[in-house]
Amino acid sequence: MKDEVHSLRIEDKEVIRKMALDAGFHDARFTDCLIEDHTIEHLTAYENRIQKQDANNGLSWFLKYKDIRRNPHMLLENVQSVLILASVYHTKEAEPYLHGRYCLARYALGKDYHLILKKKGNELLKKINDAYSCKGRVLVDTAPFLEKYFAVKSGIGFYGKNSLVISPSFGSFFHITVILLNLSILPDHPAFADCGSCTNCIAACPAGAIQHYSIDPYLCTSYRTIESKEIFCEKQNTGGYIFGCDLCQNVCPYNRPPAYANFEEYKPSSEIPTNITGPIDRELFERIKKESVIQRVSYEKFNNSINTT
Ligand code: SF4
Ligand code: SF4
Repeated sequence: MKDEVHSLRIEDKEVIRKMALDAGFHDARFTDCLIEDHTIEHLTAYENRIQKQDANNGLSWFLKYKDIRRNPHMLLENVQSVLILASVYHTKEAEPYLHGRYCLARYALGKDYHLILKKKGNELLKKINDAYSCKGRVLVDTAPFLEKYFAVKSGIGFYGKNSLVISPSFGSFFHITVILLNLSILPDHPAFADCGSCTNCIAACPAGAIQHYSIDPYLCTSYRTIESKEIFCEKQNTGGYIFGCDLCQNVCPYNRPPAYANFEEYKPSSEIPTNITGPIDRELFERIKKESVIQRVSYEKFNNSINTT
C-alpha cells in the first residue's frame, strides 16, 4: 500500500524554507518532479554522445541507471516535490589559493562537499519529518538525478552560457543539495534573469569548451583533470588549473562581488599549500586528499595534470 500524501499549505512551505535558511543554506526552493519531453530528448542525445565517444570511460558512469534518471519515483516512492537547496562554497580564506602558478577549483579546497551536505541535508530532513511526518531522501550528486534541470525549474537560478546554474543573487559558486519529499507543495516560480549579451565565459575558456549554453565535456579542464583516467603526454593551456577549473565562473558578472560560504567546512584545508609550484610528493598528496574530493584522482593523475599544464 502506498504512503498517504500530505498537501502542505503555503505557510508550511515558508516554514520549511526558513528551516533551510536557518541551517545555513543560501536558498531553498520547491518544484514538482515532472520532466519535460524536450529535456528527455537532450538527455538522450547527451547519452548517445558519451556512448560513442567515451574511450577513456571517464563519463561512462552517466550511462548507468538511465531509467532512474528519467523517473524520480524510482528514487523515492510516491515522491511529490523536490526541494532544492543551494550552499555557496567560496570562502574569504580561499582567496590566497586562487593566484598561484597552479590552482585547484575552489570547491576542492575544503572538505568533500558530499560529506558536508549529506549530513546537513539529513539534519534538515529530520526537522521536516518531525514537523510534517513525511518520507524523504537527500541527494548530493549521489544518485542518477537531473540536479541542474530541477534547480532551474525551482527558480534557484537560470542556465548560464557556461551551462552552470546561476543565481541572480549569489552567482554560481554553490553546490546543490536535493531533498525528495512525499509532500505535495506548491512549486516556486522560475528565476527572471539571464546572461543577456554577456559572453565573458566563452572568451575566458582556454579550452574553447563552451558552446552557447553547453560545455563540451571532453574539452573542459574539469574532465581532463578529474573524470578522464588518461595520463596525458601533451601539454594543454588550462590557465594553471590542475584539479577542476573556475575560469568561466571567475569572469561571470553574477559572481562579482563574490558571495561567501556559511559553512566552516568549506574553508581550505591547512594541508593544501597556498602556492603549489610543481609536482608534489606522495606524502603530501596523501594528506591533502583526506576527506577531500581530491581523492577522486590518483597521485599519478594529480602530478600528470601539473606536468602537462
Ligand atoms: S571549467 Fe574551465 S575549461 Fe571548463 S568550460 Fe569553464 S573555463 Fe572552460
Ligand atoms: S559570464 Fe556572462 S555569459 Fe557566461 S554565464 Fe556569466 S553572465 Fe552568462
